[in-house]
Amino acid sequence: MRHRLLVPGAAALSLMLAIPASAADFTPGAPGAGDSYYPESGNGGYRVSHYDLRLKYQPATDLLEGTATLLARTTQDLSRFNLDFGLKVSEIRINGKKATFATSGKHELEVTPATPLEKGKDVSVVVRYAGKPSELKIDGFTAWARTPDGGVVAQEPESAVWWFPSNDHPTDKATYDISVAVPDGTQALSNGVLTSKSSKLGWTRFNWRSDKPQATYLTTLAIGKFDITTDTTADGLPVINAVSPDLGANLGAARASIERTTEVTEWLQSVFGPYPFNSVGGYVPNVPAGYALETQTRPFYGKKAFDKGANVSVVVHELAHQWYGDSVSLKDWKDIWLNEGFAAYSQWLWSEKEGEGTAQQLADYTYAQHPADDPFWTVKPGDPGPDKQFDSAVYDRGALALQALRNKLGDEVFFDLLKSWPTEHRYGNAAVGDFVKFAEKKSGKPLAEFFDTWLYQPTRPAAAAGARAFVARGPVAQPKSWKQIQATHEVHAGH
Ligand SMILES: [Zn+2]
Repeated sequence: MRHRLLVPGAAALSLMLAIPASAADFTPGAPGAGDSYYPESGNGGYRVSHYDLRLKYQPATDLLEGTATLLARTTQDLSRFNLDFGLKVSEIRINGKKATFATSGKHELEVTPATPLEKGKDVSVVVRYAGKPSELKIDGFTAWARTPDGGVVAQEPESAVWWFPSNDHPTDKATYDISVAVPDGTQALSNGVLTSKSSKLGWTRFNWRSDKPQATYLTTLAIGKFDITTDTTADGLPVINAVSPDLGANLGAARASIERTTEVTEWLQSVFGPYPFNSVGGYVPNVPAGYALETQTRPFYGKKAFDKGANVSVVVHELAHQWYGDSVSLKDWKDIWLNEGFAAYSQWLWSEKEGEGTAQQLADYTYAQHPADDPFWTVKPGDPGPDKQFDSAVYDRGALALQALRNKLGDEVFFDLLKSWPTEHRYGNAAVGDFVKFAEKKSGKPLAEFFDTWLYQPTRPAAAAGARAFVARGPVAQPKSWKQIQATHEVHAGH
């Protein structure tokens, strides 16, 4: 009798054991997303759909305290997984239960849940942390810039590890709610729209929302004192611009440049199609940097970008990225031409519209500037390598490739491509090869050899490869817009 009674008991026990027994199939998520230039960036085994960041920052001490809640979904049976993060973590909870964690590599946080996570399940990850982001150095570098009245984070290709835990690769985009408490009288700026603001016990909390997919490196935070202007475009899109009042002689030029944001956005919509996000604008904090960055909905502009006066061309460049780079993001950092070639070319188109030199004149001049033996031509815009990722050739040769394509296809097909690509790939990711296939389909022409010549050969393409000769014979006059466009090339000097 006892034996018979034990049978159902044993069966139940083996059922209960079914989960632990298969735990052998639960494996750690990959420590990287598989990027060919930055193998440690991002992670495998899960995808994040939303980041909720609740932060507090004290400018006087640079202390950032945070609680990050990540909503994720597993893509494999996970025994553990990695986040990318550099600040000190005090606690991690997964689905409400305490997890254990350890650090490894340059910025890896290895998280082990109390029980393994099954594939295809929704998971919440809560990370509590605190630290001084300007003191966090990775390869001697910090992406966090302290200012006299606050701090700013806007860097490419990596910036998130200095201020929030993430799956830090552009292939995993998510929406964001970013709530930041700062001392009264100080402002906190981020992406998207300000949904609310409240003050309590000497601290003011700003709540920002960016409700369309956004890459981690395009997520920005700026704390300090700003003069803020708000408006709406003719289409009702909120415009939020912010300028530090402490820019000295550059203040007027900075303001005069970013106050062109609405006009530039309208024009870009006529070229690239509907604007993809819930807000637009820009900010110029009091940092000495000369670069700018296309942080989503709200590009960052370093003060130095306005040393020589207003520069609308750099505004055109960063706003063009909202379509090319932000809405349609790269699949791998080697696909950088899809960002920079198009943003640079948009500056040529703006010059053409403003009567400061046509795109063809800029192409002719660019081509003539670089003799065949110039190392400029050894940089392959289609795969420049991590060291040359933001080389001026990625921009200039990248834009030349587009002028050559325009000459080959004609204006009608070319401008249809410029508009249909970001419209049909909105909020997604793409590789250079995807654009080549798309252009072939839209034009009905074989283009593999053409793109190989312009993007992948370490030599100067024959002028004839562009269908119309790029003038390389005699002296070519410098287009009026040239210097201003060149001035934006230190844009992504980054690190
Ligand atoms: Zn750019």
